[in-house]
Amino acid sequence: MIYQRSSQLFAEAEKVIPGGVNSPVRAFKAVGGTPIFVQRAQGAYLYDEDGNRLIDYINSWGPMILGHAYEPVVEAVTERAKLGTSFGMPTELETKIAALAVSMVPNIDKIRFVNSGTEACMSAIRLARGFTKRDKIIKFAGCYHGHSDSFLIAAGSGLSTFGVPNSPGVTEGTAKDTLLARYNDLENVSALIAANPNEIAAIIVEPVAGNMGCVPPLNGFLEGLRELCSANGILLIFDEVMTGFRLAAGGVQELFGIQADIVCFGKVIGGGLPVGAFAAREEIMNYLAPLGPVYQAGTLSGNPLAMAAGLAMLESLNNDRAVFQRLEEKTSYLEAGIRNVLTANSVVFTINRVGSMISVHFDAEPVVDFQSAAKGDNVTFKKFFHGLLNEGIYIAPSAYETWFITDALTYEDLDFTIQAIDKVSKTFK
Ligand SMILES: *Cc1c(COP(=O)(O)O)cnc(C)c1O
Repeated sequence: MIYQRSSQLFAEAEKVIPGGVNSPVRAFKAVGGTPIFVQRAQGAYLYDEDGNRLIDYINSWGPMILGHAYEPVVEAVTERAKLGTSFGMPTELETKIAALAVSMVPNIDKIRFVNSGTEACMSAIRLARGFTKRDKIIKFAGCYHGHSDSFLIAAGSGLSTFGVPNSPGVTEGTAKDTLLARYNDLENVSALIAANPNEIAAIIVEPVAGNMGCVPPLNGFLEGLRELCSANGILLIFDEVMTGFRLAAGGVQELFGIQADIVCFGKVIGGGLPVGAFAAREEIMNYLAPLGPVYQAGTLSGNPLAMAAGLAMLESLNNDRAVFQRLEEKTSYLEAGIRNVLTANSVVFTINRVGSMISVHFDAEPVVDFQSAAKGDNVTFKKFFHGLLNEGIYIAPSAYETWFITDALTYEDLDFTIQAIDKVSKTFK
């Protein structure tokens, strides 16, 4: 495939945008080469600036669960735009999408809309801190909750339970309030709670992790977190920015029957426009301004175009609940196909999958946390990525990412993909 125009556009972009991109993973640093510039997309396909067609397994990192340029969303946004694009005043649309979201997701009474998943998670921990009157939070290594300061934290040295900044610009003062735990390790969480009695406001977790590849919770992990939180006055925050409205209409709370205290959303809930949200039972949500003391705001929060897109998306999912089963079947078919060809070609691999989230790791050991995810063979991954790209298949340009399956994919697309993986994996040796 030819990427001449993409390369030129990237060179132009680099002059005026740091690294040529507005979000780092897009820059192909982990796989080499230059990023592909998209011209348009339709259904399961991206069309790039060189005229190549790519089957898309990223789908804007999740939102396009029903495919690109999905007609009900495009129509809703187009119609809404004619009526004005922002008011900074309430609209009925906001109540409609809020009511629908609250009806779909278990265990939440009220929801507030923001502009990104980052904002949702940042606001959720502020709310949790205000509500519990405690300062510290526990997060898990390898879970991503956006780029706000409290989450850009790495594990401290062996003896310290404190986190340390993971990026210049994050202060040590902020870092000391974030404790790092190992995903799927309840003993580690218990120890952190015991070492910080009555100090922990919240545990925030991706209930199915998707930012170190797809890492499912081991049996009992989420239940254990729920019990530890309830026993210690800690709020359990499910970051469902990736899983919400994807793994089930009610997200992981519904899928595994576990109740969180605060839930964060993003990605699918905006139908491809910039939307995030956080939600909880009334008692907690009423702690927010203007009812309560915890401040949180946004000039473009609840923006009518964004709400129109999100509402059209949620209505489509709500009116066709079979979509989640279809996605499960398509992704399971893809998984089986990939397993077959990789095994036939003697590739060492692990595949993790929950519903329409799937990741291929080039390592034989089970991938259950950040440490095991980091062991994957990146040289093989690069060959895999560029090989597939050459076959017209776009997966995330990093070994740590989940593939997001869209309902727009046909079984023909899936077969084509499996055949391409067969071809590419023969070149690994
Ligand atoms: C994508 C993501 C975020 C951040 O959302 P943005 O809209 O990129 O700010 C937070 N949490 C999880 C689990 C995510 O996957």
